Amino acid sequence: MINEEYKAMLGGKSVIRELAEYATARGKEIGYDNVFDYSLGNPSVPAPASFTAAMTDLYAHGDPVALHGYSPSLGNPEFKQAVADYLNRKFAMAYTANHIFPTTGAAGALSHAFRAVTKPDDEIVTFAPYFPEYGPYTAGAGLKLTVVPADTTAWQIDFAAFEQALNPNVTAVLINTPNNPSGAVYSAATLEKLASILTAKQAEYGHDIFLISDEPYREILFDGGKQPYPSTFYDNTLSCYSWSKSLSLPGERIGYVAVNPKATDADLLVPMMGQISRGTGHNCPASSIQLGVAKVLDETSDLSVYETNMNLLYDALTSIGFDVVRPGGTFYIFPKALEENATAFCMKAKEYDLILVPSESFGVPGYFRMAYCIDTDKVKRSIPALERFAHEVYG
Ligand code: PLP
Repeated sequence: MINEEYKAMLGGKSVIRELAEYATARGKEIGYDNVFDYSLGNPSVPAPASFTAAMTDLYAHGDPVALHGYSPSLGNPEFKQAVADYLNRKFAMAYTANHIFPTTGAAGALSHAFRAVTKPDDEIVTFAPYFPEYGPYTAGAGLKLTVVPADTTAWQIDFAAFEQALNPNVTAVLINTPNNPSGAVYSAATLEKLASILTAKQAEYGHDIFLISDEPYREILFDGGKQPYPSTFYDNTLSCYSWSKSLSLPGERIGYVAVNPKATDADLLVPMMGQISRGTGHNCPASSIQLGVAKVLDETSDLSVYETNMNLLYDALTSIGFDVVRPGGTFYIFPKALEENATAFCMKAKEYDLILVPSESFGVPGYFRMAYCIDTDKVKRSIPALERFAHEVYG
C-alpha cells in the first residue's frame, strides 16, 4: 500500500511549475524568445567569476580526499567560522561557528529551523503574500500554518490582523524579507513592532515564540536601500539564508541557519539540527561547495539587471494603469490584476504570450506575480504585449 498523503499531493501541483511547463511547450511552437515567461524565480545571471575561480582552484590544488569527503554533520568548521565572521562584520552580531548550520539552500534551512523550535501540531504564523512552498514545508514538520491577511497598501504587516491570529498554540512566526512575491523590504519600524508584539506574547503565554526569518533575497535591493537584519530586533530569531539568488547557485543547494546567540538554548540548537538531519535524511551540503562559497562571502553575482528590469516594468505597468507597489528588492513585482479573478486574468494573458502567475497560491486574491529574472531585451519586448493585453481585453 503506497502513502496516500503524498499520492494526494500529486493532484495539487504547483501553479508556477505548470505555467513554466506551458511556457516551455509554447516556446517549442513559436520560439522561446517570443514567450514572455515571467513564471519562475530562477536567477538569469551567472555566478561571479571569483566563485568559478575558487572552485577551479580547489579542484586543481585541494586535497581530493577532503574535497570530496564527508562533511562533519554540523558542517565544515572553516565554512561556519567564515559565515559567522561575515555576519558579525555586516550586522554587528556575535555569532560563533557553533551558531551556524549549513543546509541545502533555504528550503533545507527552513526545514531544520521549524523542527528545532516547534513540535507537531503547533501553530506557525506567516503573512500574506507568502511563498507557496511554505505550505508543504510546514506541513512536512507537522505544523498548522496560519496566514495573516496582507497589508495591501505597502506589503508590510497588518499588525491588527497579526495580533488577532496569535494564540498560545503559536510557537513560531515565519517572515520573508525581501519578499517573494511582493518585492517588499520590511522596514526597521515593521521589524521593531513585530519584535515588541512577540516579546509581549512570549511573556503572556509563558513560552518562547521563535522568529524564523527566510532571507534568500537579502542582497537584491533597489534604490540604494538597506534590509535591516531581523535578528538584531529579536533574540529568539533563526535566520535562514541561501546563496541560490545572491550567487546564482540554486542548483548547488547551499545555505545555512544562523541561530541568534541570545536565543533560548542557542548553544543546543545547531547540535539538535544535526539530529534532525538524521531523521529527514538530509546530509550536510557537499564539502567542496562549503569550501568554495567560504572564499567568496563578500561577493554577489552582478545583480544590477534585476533593478534595470524592475524599473522598466514598474514604469510600464504604472503608465498602462496598473495599481502596483514599487518593489524594494528581489526580482518580483506584484501588481493588482485588472479583474478580481487573478487566475482568469492570467489565463487571458497567455493569449498574448505573457506568462504571469496568479496570486491565489500566494494567499492574496486579485494580484499577479512577474518574476523578471529574464533578459532585459525580453522585458522591453514584452511591454507592447502588456499594453495590447490591457487595452484590448480590459479597455
Ligand atoms: N524561500 C523563498 C521566499 C524562496 O523564494 C525560495 C526559492 O525561490 C526558497 C525559500 C527556497 O530557496 P532554495 O532554493 O535556496 O532552497
